[in-house]
Amino acid sequence: MGLEIHAQLATRTKIYCADEVTFGAAPNTHVSPISLGHPGALPTLNAASVELAITLGLATGCAIAERCHFARKNYFYPDLPKGYQISQDTTPLCTDGALNIRLKDGTEKRIRIQRIHLEEDAGKSLHDQDLYDSLIDLNRASAGLIEIVSHPDLRSPEEAMAYLTEVRRLVRYLDVCDGNMEEGSLRCDANVSVMRVGSERFGTRCEIKNMNSISNVGRAIVFEINRQIQIIESGGTITQETRTWDASTSRTLSMRDKESADDYRYFPEPDLLPLRVSTAAREAIRARMPELPQAIFHRLTTELKLSDFDAGLITEERTISAYFFQAAVAYRAKYQAPLEAKTLASWMNGPIRTTLNETATDIAAFPLSPAATAELLHLVVSGQVSLSAVKEEIYPTVLAAARAGQVRDPLAVAQEKNLLQNSNADELRAIVATVLSQNPEQVATYRSGKVGLLGFFVGQVRQATGGKADPKLVNQLLAEALNG
Ligand code: MN
Repeated sequence: MGLEIHAQLATRTKIYCADEVTFGAAPNTHVSPISLGHPGALPTLNAASVELAITLGLATGCAIAERCHFARKNYFYPDLPKGYQISQDTTPLCTDGALNIRLKDGTEKRIRIQRIHLEEDAGKSLHDQDLYDSLIDLNRASAGLIEIVSHPDLRSPEEAMAYLTEVRRLVRYLDVCDGNMEEGSLRCDANVSVMRVGSERFGTRCEIKNMNSISNVGRAIVFEINRQIQIIESGGTITQETRTWDASTSRTLSMRDKESADDYRYFPEPDLLPLRVSTAAREAIRARMPELPQAIFHRLTTELKLSDFDAGLITEERTISAYFFQAAVAYRAKYQAPLEAKTLASWMNGPIRTTLNETATDIAAFPLSPAATAELLHLVVSGQVSLSAVKEEIYPTVLAAARAGQVRDPLAVAQEKNLLQNSNADELRAIVATVLSQNPEQVATYRSGKVGLLGFFVGQVRQATGGKADPKLVNQLLAEALNG
């Protein structure tokens, strides 16, 4: 399999004219003579589109063309008023890159990228708005797209889904595209073929279109693989064609015979000058790029010893990893000590993620600052309040206050709710000594090797303190007193 991914560029205006790029606006309100394809209207290339395409090209290790030109791809469709799409043919802006995907067993696989080129979107045909007629909305016409074409390096539906997930994460990290598949900002076509075990020649491929989620891509590929195998095993041959995924019946259906490049009569676009990318311009874009998610993932799993699972969730989105590092920095600044990465990751992937899911918001709209999260976690790390009390009592209180526009000091909430643990070592040491003197037999048994009795002593100490002793400190003091 190889995937062709179209990503709508997150620019304010369209790629060849100044109409705004919007989603959900009233039909045909963001159009102009250029996007409507009026004769004689002249396109102008949007520089921001080029920068975004180069950004993704650099992030995937592509070569960036120093000079390239645009080409007309001619075809008729009602939502394409010009009768051609301004795309790139023989001189794509970015070529020969790759993206690593992570497989279930933890190994990585390199998927080669043939090319990333610039082009414009078409309008939308609306078939469900009117009883008798199809209607056309040209708000999307001439919005900027990049088409990311992989080599046929994908060998299973899981790999295809992992690759698409990785592309989506990357374009979102880089603010190249919002990655919204339901709204069509990210669209994926899959070229699928099968061959017999041991064969070295790919079979005839079919292209599947119209899959609007990552799981639909997986389902469509599974169906298509089985369809092709069945045809071959019953003695038939595969016809090269374009098929559409019908999510309501979970099948792919034939749309049309596959057109070849010749059918589009590509020729150089006469209304746009060739595009030159200077070394200085390219390097300036490279210098502005944020740290890539795979690099952050690597740093989290090696230097900070997080599990793949925790690191995967933290690097899902740039806003989440940014919050993680901001909270770590805030903690260190305030308490002059590092916050353990695992403690912070578990908190973010646990209570914070639950809150975000419950309110269907992302972390950009989360009302607690990274510094506030650092303060909450300090209560646990310092042994002042138990993790469960912070999670169940203090966090909801502080969060509710923040939603109402108030800042509550977590320590003050702990005092008010009487949740502070006794972490005064001298006081606890005295209680430990009393407990041991009251239970001489158990002490002797423990010292003779029955170390399981530690739990008994912990229970006694907690009882003597009304359940408010810092368990970590109690364990440590008991171990000192019993073994010392
Ligand atoms: Mn395309």
